[in-house]
Amino acid sequence: MEENTFARLPRMDRLLACPPLGDSPLPYASRKEGARMALEELRDVLRREPGASIPPLEAVARRGLVLAEVLCRPRLGKVVNATGVVLHTNLGRAPLSPRAAEAAARVAAGYSNLEYDLDTGRRGSRTAAVEEQLCALTGAEGAYVVNNNAAAVLLMLAALAPGLGVAISRGELVEIGGSFRVPDVMVQSGARLVEVGTTNKTRPEDYAQALAYGRAQALLKVHPSNFRLVGFTQGVEPEELASLATRYSVPLLCDLGSGAPGPGPWPQDYPTIAKWLPHAQILCCSGDKLLGGPQCGILLGKREAVAKLKAHPLARALRLDKLSLAALEATLLDWRDGVLSPVQTMLAATQAELEHKAKALTGVLSPCCPCQPVPCESQAGGGALPGESLPSWAVELDPPGGPEALEAFFRRQRPPVIGRIHGGKLLLDMRTLLPGDEDLIQAALAAWAEGQV
Ligand SMILES: *Cc1c(COP(=O)(O)O)cnc(C)c1O
Repeated sequence: MEENTFARLPRMDRLLACPPLGDSPLPYASRKEGARMALEELRDVLRREPGASIPPLEAVARRGLVLAEVLCRPRLGKVVNATGVVLHTNLGRAPLSPRAAEAAARVAAGYSNLEYDLDTGRRGSRTAAVEEQLCALTGAEGAYVVNNNAAAVLLMLAALAPGLGVAISRGELVEIGGSFRVPDVMVQSGARLVEVGTTNKTRPEDYAQALAYGRAQALLKVHPSNFRLVGFTQGVEPEELASLATRYSVPLLCDLGSGAPGPGPWPQDYPTIAKWLPHAQILCCSGDKLLGGPQCGILLGKREAVAKLKAHPLARALRLDKLSLAALEATLLDWRDGVLSPVQTMLAATQAELEHKAKALTGVLSPCCPCQPVPCESQAGGGALPGESLPSWAVELDPPGGPEALEAFFRRQRPPVIGRIHGGKLLLDMRTLLPGDEDLIQAALAAWAEGQV
């Protein structure tokens, strides 16, 4: 009986030949999937109601095309980040500076001297320019870049500690966002994990014991970026770790996580490149976290150690693409010129500036929806500055009937506006807005208000 019911459905080949599905320029595979889904919808209808009438062939083809177009629509695009989380992992972490974005776009759209030496007319090194810049900016003897910091950690351990016992504090065996776990990366690298100390306290003697008894032949320091130990805690200073490394002639490797160059809009005791570089054989960090450049992994350190990194087979597999390389070079030029990256500017924004912005935007938005400027807390995010909340200002939208419908409406706009619901209101944090975002928010809210009347 069921087979008979379904026999009334159009045949796949006829559906695929029928306009507008049949003559759509979409790839065959997408049209076929759209047709399959349209037929599946009809099967669902017939399962519930076997006698239901079947729409004409062309109507089913139209539905199939709509579904195929949904499959093929672009997904990745700009959003307005009004969450107040500066390095929002789900929203693409660091926005590039205009200089970095332009550099990437220029290289993207044409040919470049990526691996061509303009002085000699021969093949050149793709990373030499940023390596020199990194050395000049940080004082490192050598530098190398890969496609993210997870890759940098992997390469550092694989090249400098293969088969070695690597001593790491129990408090630093962390998981950082989307599935980067220090113990798992160590296994993949071929290094052997040697846990020392305890979760909350690790002393120099703990490392010394592992080294003295031959259990460990390298030291690893990991900045536990996304959480903070408070209370009865103790860690080991860079100087102490370095002197242990020297005493036992083992390398000190360091995963800083965020690449905070030196003093900046973060706490004074924050582990920066300037603080750790003199002590580490190699240190690595993200190019996008506190540095605010493109997603990449930066490795800095001693000349021979960097040479080992570059000679390792993984170096090629993990190499940085040309768009990120162009953006990184421009980010380093900003650093050289003392120009803060957008991330650093957002972190440094004062309450007075943010309050002023919130008041101005409230004035613009209030004709569309009840709202007011309110103080709030924003965050660095991205596993940087955990537990550190940054006093900020937001526009608090109080739509009649609650904030959920407006929040969802904002998410469906092009571009979407992402805020956060707090205390029954929708908060738009001023800290993470980029130039032009206020206009987009105003347009989104005006569209919503229009739908309310
Ligand atoms: C963020 C982070 C990583 C991973 O860096 P990605 O750039 O996201 O690959 C690794 N280690 C630490 C300590 C981090 O904070």
